[in-house]
Amino acid sequence: MTVVKVELKRTPQDYKWTKPPEWCPGCGHFGILQALLQVFAELNMEPSRTVLVSGIGCSSRLPHYVRTVSAHTIHGRAVPFALGLKLANPNLEVMVVGGDGDLFAIGGNHILGAGRRNVDFTVVLMDNAVYGLTRGQAGPTLPLGLQPKALNKPNPQADLNPLLVALASGFTFIARSYSYDIRYTAKLIKEAMLHKGSALVQVLSPCVTYNNIMTREWYEKRVYKLEEADPTWDPVVHDEKEDYEKRRRAIEKMLEIERLPLGIFYKNELVPTFEERYAQMYDPNYLKFPPALQPIEKDGKSVIDFYRLMADRIL
Ligand code: SF4
Repeated sequence: MTVVKVELKRTPQDYKWTKPPEWCPGCGHFGILQALLQVFAELNMEPSRTVLVSGIGCSSRLPHYVRTVSAHTIHGRAVPFALGLKLANPNLEVMVVGGDGDLFAIGGNHILGAGRRNVDFTVVLMDNAVYGLTRGQAGPTLPLGLQPKALNKPNPQADLNPLLVALASGFTFIARSYSYDIRYTAKLIKEAMLHKGSALVQVLSPCVTYNNIMTREWYEKRVYKLEEADPTWDPVVHDEKEDYEKRRRAIEKMLEIERLPLGIFYKNELVPTFEERYAQMYDPNYLKFPPALQPIEKDGKSVIDFYRLMADRIL
């Protein structure tokens, strides 16, 4: 008998959870959710091997609406949780979703650590410049001097540029999209997932309830696509000698504030991932036989040498 293996082709609907999103009508996050469902279907992601990790905030509810493995963790700690998962089992596809406050204020130090390691995972930053869940306080990306309606005075703090932080920390794929452009957001998230190394996609995602300044109209007057404005735009580092120039051009674009470029700013797959480095430097069997696939007990007794494990794994 010939056994024919049929690969199940999934649709965006197959990844959609039955629970409807608890977001305000018109919230930009709906576009990101839709883009994610499309990408998972296009890549035919296996739900049991795809992990969505979030912290706290309106955006961090997203994993509840997707039919994959998910972890809704604590404020600012989605990145280390995700890195732990990925390093325990590099065969998983791991993605962090979160807001600008969760990822770049309370969780900012973890972004720095992630970039330095270049672990093969993706961060989707759902950026609305306010803390929507707690009624609209200033988030770290809110420009200096703006006064959305929850603030009783203009913002006295300078805004942080997450793209520059990602580049400085060592992320090897950095892109920006706009949530109401679902097709473009899906395209960039897909490229980020296919990238080998740490990827960050900032998605500008209006909070229609609390950010009454950075509205859909505000963004649509400013956003433009890098590749449309300059058909020669090529963010990919093809040779290490190009790296300085590609970074310099990326930084120039990241610093634009009057207009907001969308697209891929920087992509470099010549940098080894942490997983590859670990296998090369410490354990050649790591990628084939990672910690999550190793036995933990035999005949009812633990086979873990805890002290050896700590000495081997803590870096
Ligand atoms: Fe979206 Fe803002 Fe409503 Fe939160 S408060 S769900 S970010 S519109």
